[in-house]
Amino acid sequence: MNLVLLGPPASGKGTCSAYLHEKYHFVHISMGDILRDYAKANTKLANIVRDTLSKGKILDENITAEILYDYLKDRNLFDNLLLDGYPRGLKSVELMKRFVNISKVIVLDADFELIKKRILNRITCPNCGKNFSKENYKLDKCDECGSKLVKRSDDNLESLTVRMQEYQRLTIPVIEHYEKLGLVYRIDSKQDYKSQLDKLMEDLK
Ligand SMILES: [Zn+2]
Repeated sequence: MNLVLLGPPASGKGTCSAYLHEKYHFVHISMGDILRDYAKANTKLANIVRDTLSKGKILDENITAEILYDYLKDRNLFDNLLLDGYPRGLKSVELMKRFVNISKVIVLDADFELIKKRILNRITCPNCGKNFSKENYKLDKCDECGSKLVKRSDDNLESLTVRMQEYQRLTIPVIEHYEKLGLVYRIDSKQDYKSQLDKLMEDLK
């Protein structure tokens, strides 16, 4: 069984993914992490990926589908997947059908003011990917691995505005598409996400 997890930036996708991984043993496939990792290489395509991400823009859907397919194939991963932040557009939905079947689409609902506050306060560990909020975390080192925390280059208001517009333009139609198929399960990110996810997993048994 494969799940998709969609939601605007900073709506809690990372937290929900970690819970679904730990309790229900899904393999977390974060498209954002895969792309950021891919962008570290020194190839022509990696340079395009890096440049596009740093501007908060969305990559061509053929490119992301190809990078995802290669990633899954290299690791022989085609079941028990939790796809986080993907598919991001209707074209990706079509491309992905060729290599992954989806059972349910979890959508995180969060309002813009909450997202803005979280993004502007967010600092990230570049080593293990853990996020912290400057509001309640005063150290500059990760409490998991000790690496120095950084501000992600796309965690600023300008980039967030672009990402929200792209979310409206590309991802909302994806959610509407899956809604017509009866696959969408909504999570209110202001409420306890654990009990909402437990209920979903109970229903899927
Ligand atoms: Zn860390």
